[in-house]
Amino acid sequence: MQHIDKSKPVMVTGANGYVATWLVKKLLEDGITVHAAVRNPDNHQKIAHLKDAAKNAKGEIKFFSGDLLAPGSYMEAMEGCELVYHTASPFTSDFKDAQKELIDPAVKGTENVLNSAKELESVKRVVVTSSCAAIYTDAIDSVNAPGGVLTEEIWNTTASMEYLPYSYSKTLAERKAWEIEKTQSNWDLVTVNMSLVLGPALNAANNTSESINILKMLGGGDMKMGAPKIGVGIVDVRDVADAHYKAGYTPEAKGRYITSAHNTNFLEMGTTLLPKYGDKFPLPKNALPKWLLSIVGPLTNKLFTRKFVKNNVNIPFKADNSKIKKELGMTFRPMKETMEDSFQVLIDDGILKAKS
Ligand code: NAP
Repeated sequence: MQHIDKSKPVMVTGANGYVATWLVKKLLEDGITVHAAVRNPDNHQKIAHLKDAAKNAKGEIKFFSGDLLAPGSYMEAMEGCELVYHTASPFTSDFKDAQKELIDPAVKGTENVLNSAKELESVKRVVVTSSCAAIYTDAIDSVNAPGGVLTEEIWNTTASMEYLPYSYSKTLAERKAWEIEKTQSNWDLVTVNMSLVLGPALNAANNTSESINILKMLGGGDMKMGAPKIGVGIVDVRDVADAHYKAGYTPEAKGRYITSAHNTNFLEMGTTLLPKYGDKFPLPKNALPKWLLSIVGPLTNKLFTRKFVKNNVNIPFKADNSKIKKELGMTFRPMKETMEDSFQVLIDDGILKAKS
């Protein structure tokens, strides 16, 4: 059990990211000083939205540089902090070398940040942004889980360097975090295990998070012939910020927290947008048949391998979010609000264009 003093600064790695930005905003609005660690604090384009978030907030933001692959590089940002949020990790499907671009930054980065936390006496709690990807790889894994539902007890055993290496990177990184936690007694570790995060981006134009790409795929016409019913969980980015906040400041918070609001699928995500945007955007209306995707999928998108299609299309996803609701008092926004707000930001920022 750790009580965090709100007058002390809080460190956030990858502070400029899609998810972290909403957390930083929330901390600043609460009057907390945020030590925002980013790769290059001189890159104005990458941090302008954080400066905007700080403008009318009670808290103060201070920028620091930190690189996941440079040992000790987060030390300066962490000094004097009781609470450390480690969110930075690559979330992309656009990679050539999984080891170098996904696994190393995820695992060595976690080692780097947590080893620095071991050296600083001020640190009392580390919250690691993990993922449901550290729990499962394919929707079929939830069907095969005890009772057909994913819980915090389960670890991903099906991802690998060759098959969905992003999920593998998150699994190895979270395992590393728990391993390091055991080697010290100054701080405790809490992990936030989100499903697919959607919701309005505060930095949509300068963001490469896979979340934004999925929204662009839904509204940009890639799925106008139909969307595959791939079972997934989704959660609003604003709720994810809230979950991180609660994970940091609830003294009793303990262990892993599945942070997933709705069990859904890609088609339903698209059709939720139809009433408001169906006239102007090429949104999916029908389910893309599994047999068709098995044939054309591998040619259109490198994610849609035969194995992926077999293990995910027309297979429901089910995760149990009762632990975070019960222990941290978490509530979640309705899916319609999340989908519409995400989409509207992409339209307002000129990223998605309406049919004329
Ligand atoms: P994002 O916007 O791309 O944020 C990733 C952050 O990590 C960025 O700040 C990025 O910095 C930083 N980063 C990447 N490689 C780095 C390196 N070598 N050194 C220092 N910083 C590095 O993606 P996101 O969606 O917000 O993801 C944030 C976290 O949430 C990740 O841990 C991800 O695995 C987790 N997560 C996301 C989802 C989701 O659906 N979005 C779901 C579950 C878990 P740059 O901007 O400089 O690249």
